[in-house]
Amino acid sequence: MAKKKSKKSTTKTKRVRRRTWDPVQVAEQYAPNVATAVGLDVLGLSEDQYVELLRDVLVSLIGDRVTKPKPETLVNAIKRNEKKVMPVVAAKLLEMIPEGKLTAEQLDFVMSYIGPLVIPFAQRLYREAKRLGADPSPLQAAWEEAWRLRGEPGPVGYCPKCGFRSVAPDGSCMVCGAVLDDEELRGAVEFDSKFKAFLEEASCSELKEALAKGSLYAGHASLHTAPKSKWDVEVLLRRADREALREALRLRCS
Ligand SMILES: [Zn+2]
Repeated sequence: MAKKKSKKSTTKTKRVRRRTWDPVQVAEQYAPNVATAVGLDVLGLSEDQYVELLRDVLVSLIGDRVTKPKPETLVNAIKRNEKKVMPVVAAKLLEMIPEGKLTAEQLDFVMSYIGPLVIPFAQRLYREAKRLGADPSPLQAAWEEAWRLRGEPGPVGYCPKCGFRSVAPDGSCMVCGAVLDDEELRGAVEFDSKFKAFLEEASCSELKEALAKGSLYAGHASLHTAPKSKWDVEVLLRRADREALREALRLRCS
């Protein structure tokens, strides 16, 4: 029968095989067992919560399959795509559990798996880690990885309070929320060593420009007279810095 039909495929109604089952329903039905099979029972959620946690992930793994997949097929798909799927599951968990209610096991899971999706959640996770007395270093690893994967350099300075490379251009920390004073900000962006290099390497016009503007922008590797990326941190020059600029001008540019 099927073969016959394909012969006259130019006729108007081309038979499309349709599925006779609802992927959302299947996802919901499978979710609790799939959760156990991939080791998510450490999260200690209720059955309904596992359904909420995994519904969208399972629906997207089901994709446009026509034949209803077996639960094991989806379990294997999760295991195969762990690096992509688990961050989504971790982010979903954070969406489901209000701040302050995360258990130590849940926090541990999220810090280990959120990876590339950590950036918007970092402040909350840092607070949760403090509340639970958990070691935030897995969070720091995720933070670094997330910026690396974004393909942009990200924050320049290391925060003296939490140790993350998370100092925003306005001098506040994107992870622990600390607001750095001038001295801390200079330390965070390693102003002194970069300024020493600037004095030696900047052109005469850059030295003059810095002196006229009264500030320099700290990037990852060096100082500039104007910001080179949106992450560069403006540092106001002190009297001693201006003296050093004048001295460099006198030595090199007169
Ligand atoms: Zn901080």
